[in-house]
Amino acid sequence: MNYFSLNNKQLKVTFEEAVIQGLAPDKGLYFPETIPTLPQSFFDEIENFSNEEIAFEVIQPFVGDEIPALELKQIIAETLCFDFPCVTVEENVFSLELYHGPTMAFKDVGARFMSRCLGYFNREKDQKNTVLVATSGDTGGAVASGFLGVKGVEVVILYPSGKVSDIQERQLTTLGQNIKALEVDGVFDDCQDMVKKAFLDDSLNHKNLTSANSINIARWLPQMFYFFFAYKQLKKFKKPLIVSCPSGNFGNICAGILAKKLGLPIYHFVASTNVNDTVPQFLVNGIYEAKASVPTISNAMDVGNPSNFVRIQEMYNHNLEEFKKDFTSYSYTDDETRFAMKNIYTNSGYIAEPHGAVGYLGLKKEMQNQPDSIGVFLETAHPIKFLDVVEPVLNVTLPIPTQIESVLDKEKVRTQIKTYEELKHFLES
Ligand SMILES: *Cc1c(COP(=O)(O)O)cnc(C)c1O
Repeated sequence: MNYFSLNNKQLKVTFEEAVIQGLAPDKGLYFPETIPTLPQSFFDEIENFSNEEIAFEVIQPFVGDEIPALELKQIIAETLCFDFPCVTVEENVFSLELYHGPTMAFKDVGARFMSRCLGYFNREKDQKNTVLVATSGDTGGAVASGFLGVKGVEVVILYPSGKVSDIQERQLTTLGQNIKALEVDGVFDDCQDMVKKAFLDDSLNHKNLTSANSINIARWLPQMFYFFFAYKQLKKFKKPLIVSCPSGNFGNICAGILAKKLGLPIYHFVASTNVNDTVPQFLVNGIYEAKASVPTISNAMDVGNPSNFVRIQEMYNHNLEEFKKDFTSYSYTDDETRFAMKNIYTNSGYIAEPHGAVGYLGLKKEMQNQPDSIGVFLETAHPIKFLDVVEPVLNVTLPIPTQIESVLDKEKVRTQIKTYEELKHFLES
C-alpha cells in the first residue's frame, strides 16, 4: 500500500517510508492511497475470530507485503496482549474499556504497534531513528513503555514541569535503557513548539527524527481494531450501533471512520469534546477555526487544532453535508463532566474517569435521536490515571493496579531543559 501526502497527492511513499518519516516532507499528513473493503463473510463470522485474527485482517492490506505475514502476526500478538471488554453501564449503554494495557491508556495499542514496525524495519540497519514526542500526560507513558528496548530506536520525551501527575511522570522517567525524559520549564505548548522546531531543523537531519503521535500512520491505523472489537461484542443485540469517542486530536475517531469505510456496520459516530470545541463549532457553522487550547479536567483532550481532522475531511471529500450523516460532535464543560461521573457512579456503580464521562454524555445525547439504538463510549484511560479528579468527585479511594504499582518505587531520571538550544544540544550529545 502506498500513502500520499494530504498536501500533495503526487507525493507517494511506501508504508515503511511513511512510518519512518511520520510527517511528509511537505508537512502533510500521510493518507492511504486506496481504502480496501472487507468481505461480508468476515462480518458475518466476526464473533468466531480472535482479536488477533481480526486485527490481522484489518491491518494487513495497509501494510501490504512490506512486513511478511508471520512477522506481522507476531507484532499484532505483542500489541494486543490484554483485553478490550465492553462493560454494561445501563440498558443499551456500554463502556469499551481500552485501558487494560501496560500503561493503562488506550494509546498503548498504537505505541506498541508502531514501535514494533520500526523495530522490524531497523532489523538489519545500523542507522538509528530518534522518536521525539511532546506529552501532556498519557502519550509519553504509552510511548515510553511501547518503545522500551526496541532495536535502533532512541526515544526522547518532553513533558512540562509540574503539569503531569506523579504517576504519569514516573511512567516516563523510570524505565531507562533507550528512553530519555526531558522536563521542560514551561507548559505543554512549549514542549510541542520545541518538537516542531526540531523536525524543521535541517542540521538535525542525521538524527532521523520521527514522531510518535497519531500523525504517524503506524500509531493511527491500529486504532481501527477497537471498533471491530466493540462490534464483535455488541453484534448480538442486532440494533444500530452508535459509538462515542472522547476526542482531542481526533486520531481515534478518525480510525473509527476508516473502519466504517472498510465495511464495519457502525450506524453513527459522536466526537465528544471538552470545551475545546473547534470541531463541534465547525459542524454548526461550517467554519474551521483553530484556537488556543483551554485547560480542563479531561486534559488529554485539550487540543484547539486537532491534527487528524484533515484526514476525516479527506474521507468525506470535504463534503460537510455527507459528513454530517455519519458524524455528530458535542462539547461539555468540566462541571457537566463531573456531574456525569457522579450520576454514572450513583446509578450503576461504574467508575468513569473524565474522558470517558465526556464520551458518555455525547453518547446519551445522540441516542435520543435514535431510540432503538445501542451505544458504546470508549473509556480511554483507567480512573487511576486521573485519580486527582476521580477520588474527590466520587468520594472513593481507588486501589492501585499492579501496572501502576510497579513504577511507584522506582527513581525518576530526567534532564531539565528550558530552551530549544538545550534540546538540540541534548539530541546531539
Ligand atoms: C489521547 C487521549 C484522548 C484523545 O484521543 P485522540 O485520538 O487524540 O482524539 C482521549 N482520552 C485519553 C485518556 C487520551 O489519552
